[in-house]
Amino acid sequence: NKCSLTSTAKENGSTRTTLSSDAVINLDQLTLLISLSHNGDPMMFESYWREMGDKCTFEIPGCQSLSYFANKNNLCWFLEPELEEEIKRLHRVVGNAAVEDHHVVVGTGSTQLIQAALYALSPPDESEPTSVVSATPYYSCYPEVTDFLRSGLYKWAGDARVFDKDGPYIEFVTSPSNPDGSIREAIVKKGQGKVVHDLAYYWPQYTPITCCAHFDVMLFTASKCTGHAGSRIGWALVKDKDVARKMTKFIEISTIGVSKEAQLRSAKIMGVISDSCLHPNSNNFFEYCQRLMAERWGKLKEVVGRSKIFTLPEYPPEYCLFTGEFSEAHPAFAWMKCNKNTEDFEKFLRAQKVLARSGRRFGSDPKFVRVSMLSREEEFEIFLHRLLSIQATSN
Ligand code: PMP
Repeated sequence: NKCSLTSTAKENGSTRTTLSSDAVINLDQLTLLISLSHNGDPMMFESYWREMGDKCTFEIPGCQSLSYFANKNNLCWFLEPELEEEIKRLHRVVGNAAVEDHHVVVGTGSTQLIQAALYALSPPDESEPTSVVSATPYYSCYPEVTDFLRSGLYKWAGDARVFDKDGPYIEFVTSPSNPDGSIREAIVKKGQGKVVHDLAYYWPQYTPITCCAHFDVMLFTASKCTGHAGSRIGWALVKDKDVARKMTKFIEISTIGVSKEAQLRSAKIMGVISDSCLHPNSNNFFEYCQRLMAERWGKLKEVVGRSKIFTLPEYPPEYCLFTGEFSEAHPAFAWMKCNKNTEDFEKFLRAQKVLARSGRRFGSDPKFVRVSMLSREEEFEIFLHRLLSIQATSN
């Protein structure tokens, strides 16, 4: 571990780490140089769950959950009924996605569902692999996941904006976008295309909820919604029965279902969130997390605004149907541009002991980096100090 750690202490059963002021901080999140946090690891929501004490605590006796099956009558036969119910309830409470005419397919994170969707949406009898595209800057895992096993069914074909091949294709639309937080729509719009809407960040703490999404295939994940990335629970809302069945088949072949313990825990946590939104005197999860995100974005903008070296995207205020107020987006990542004569912003920041992910990884310009806004408070504060000192020495 390259990071200098000054102390670790046990608190409520979890280990807390204190950083020294010259620690390398990892805001890239999947670079294994130091493993303080991973891929947008939502550690900042920990404070909410600490305040909630034992509200999510429950026991699973040894005689429970032995079977592979959770509900033999359901198309997705390994989906726990409690989880299905709480997923639907949460979407109804927030109003961010239609659930009435969709099948729920649970996955080991939405990463498994991305693969299940690729399998289910690729025509089985084409002479060449189906093209998979997404508009730049795209989520860097799409090309990695698509080409990892060199499937004969599908193949990464890059930026959706320049895709002009005829025939079947699959387009990933990430909205709000990882990495840049923008609201996205499908780009290619050709007859034989299938679109997967990855709505991992379409929750009120990150963005105003402007409509109830009603797409054919929508992906969500507990990682970004509740903050429990470690439970590895994702879900797909799928309109077409055959597509839902094929996605279920993919998960059956790859892992014979999804951990019941993780499903039950996620159901409990989602239930607590829905209750927190419905009961006037409780600590509304989304409002609490939105406040945290807004504070961080306020601080980052203040620091970045002190010089002209770095720039951040602007997010115009929109009316949020969930909060009933106009608000700006507070994305999970800052898509920062360096205006200095630095060809490689990631390398430049690395020299200042900040690990961020290069724009290149997102099919974009190396003058950009993606910085996670979801790290622990301490890491975020050190990051701001580093930015300030870079600006001070560059002025
Ligand atoms: N989609 C997007 C856009 C993401 O940012 C992530 C996580 N970084 C995922 C999917 C995968 O999330 P998980 O596998 O943790 O559910």
